[in-house]
Amino acid sequence: DPPSTSSVCATLKSPTKSQSVYIMAAGDIPKWPPTISESQLESLTLLATTYALSHGLVYLPVADKQPPAPTSTIHAPISLFPSPIPRKLFNQAKELQSIYNTLYSRIATQEEFLDHVMGEIEGVGKVDEFTGQLWRRWKKLRDENKISQPLQLGLFRSDYMIHTPSNEQPSLKQVEFNTISSSFGTLSERSAQMHRYLLKSTGYYESSPYLKEENLPPNQTTAGLAEGIATAHKAYNTSNARVLFVVQDNERNVFDQRWLEYELLETHSIHVLRQTFDQLATSAKVDPSTSALQLHLPGSSTPYEISVIYFRAGYTPNDYPTSAHYDIRYLLESSRAIKCPSIPLQLAGGKKVQEVLTKPGVLEQFLRNDKFWNGEVYSTQKLEAIRETWMDMWALDEGEGDSGVVRARDESSSLVLKPQREGGGNNVYKESIPSFLDSLPVSERQAWIAMKLISTQQGLGNYLVRAGGGTESAGKSSEVISELGIFGWSLFGGSDGQVVEKEVGWLLRTKGKDSNEGGVAAGFSVLDSIVLI
Ligand code: ADP
Ligand code: MG
Ligand code: MG
Repeated sequence: DPPSTSSVCATLKSPTKSQSVYIMAAGDIPKWPPTISESQLESLTLLATTYALSHGLVYLPVADKQPPAPTSTIHAPISLFPSPIPRKLFNQAKELQSIYNTLYSRIATQEEFLDHVMGEIEGVGKVDEFTGQLWRRWKKLRDENKISQPLQLGLFRSDYMIHTPSNEQPSLKQVEFNTISSSFGTLSERSAQMHRYLLKSTGYYESSPYLKEENLPPNQTTAGLAEGIATAHKAYNTSNARVLFVVQDNERNVFDQRWLEYELLETHSIHVLRQTFDQLATSAKVDPSTSALQLHLPGSSTPYEISVIYFRAGYTPNDYPTSAHYDIRYLLESSRAIKCPSIPLQLAGGKKVQEVLTKPGVLEQFLRNDKFWNGEVYSTQKLEAIRETWMDMWALDEGEGDSGVVRARDESSSLVLKPQREGGGNNVYKESIPSFLDSLPVSERQAWIAMKLISTQQGLGNYLVRAGGGTESAGKSSEVISELGIFGWSLFGGSDGQVVEKEVGWLLRTKGKDSNEGGVAAGFSVLDSIVLI
């Protein structure tokens, strides 16, 4: 008999139930986590948190206001065991990244498409203030002929879950494709290293036949993501230029960003400057004759020229408390610096674009076999492989009359509704959907998409450890859901139409199964890593 959910989820209180360690659950995913004793759990927790603190797998602590120079850190939220991912699906996700990198690069260069889908005249920008603000400024720049840098850089993360409906083989399904501030690359590398260390240093992983070094895939996201930025920096081709990280004032996930900064300096000899939008209001100037972005910083008599602007802020309306903040974005966008992302690339990452791509014929508009495609043929099979990673999606305002909304009501129990937002905490799930639809003005329907929920494997567990405790770290394993992210970068937009791109590593985030949302920064998930099965 397949084990029931409760027996598969090992708890220390019921050691007899968890003795049948190697029972295979549906879809060939083993029972998880392996059994350990209470004292082993204590020592594993000590080793894991100490490793995290020693190796910069850390966050700034919660504080009303961070001191200018931090004096302490806390370990990032982590899992004690890596989580099982089928080897075939992991490889598939990595292979698809190159096509996804190219697809979203191509979307970002198709102005007509983005105007239609995200613009203020016919698209989402008409009803969504945030999207409209960004689109308007991009449009203004085009109308004024002030786009002075054709090249664009993307640091992407394509997120997936493993769809495991009963009686079906598990398959890879995309949650979303991030084109701005794709985070947790460098911390994810460290979390994978931590699990490798726990395997080496303790015998506790030996109770599972899967937990062997050869089943823990390598993860070099830090070098990979920094290489993307360095490639754009080189393309800018100005000695002494620096890279600008645009950051949030109250950011706690600063170390994830700093690791990239150190890699750029140590491996590529590229200097990074960090600025918030508020600081940029006084420091940033665009040279009227060359369009170079120059930062005038206190303590430096000459300004710094910026080669690449890497946004770790600007993805949420909270980063733009006044219209002056949008105007700073406009100023940066008008410069000759290479933007990561540009406004159009940010718009390309909208949930609405993800939904429109699923309409017949739309994917083909971007992945045609023509001279722009690095000589690669986008065969029907390749397009199908991409399409197969999509769940059903539709627009709330689509169809005759209310049909988009009627369908959303009918199918609400297997649905999530998403607005055009990033960073977690914005979606509406299942039973909350009907009353939400009651209160949603008809005019705002266009800002939302409906997406079928991915149904993940039940009965997988893990130990989730958060600094300062919390219910899920109280010494027992929780039933969990994992989300796989694949990182990639892409440099594109030149007159030759070339897209230079690469897949550069992965992230595994794991959350308690009762949490709808999944962000680590938003406090829902922990950093995990992969054991291939
Ligand atoms: P954001 O850009 O805010 O991260 P996401 O689309 O990633 O938005 O949604 C946030 C979280 O909601 C995801 O991390 C995931 O946990 C959950 N989620 C989103 N879409 C689905 C889906 N189709 N099926 C199951 N869970 C989903
Ligand atoms: Mg997400
Ligand atoms: Mg996102």
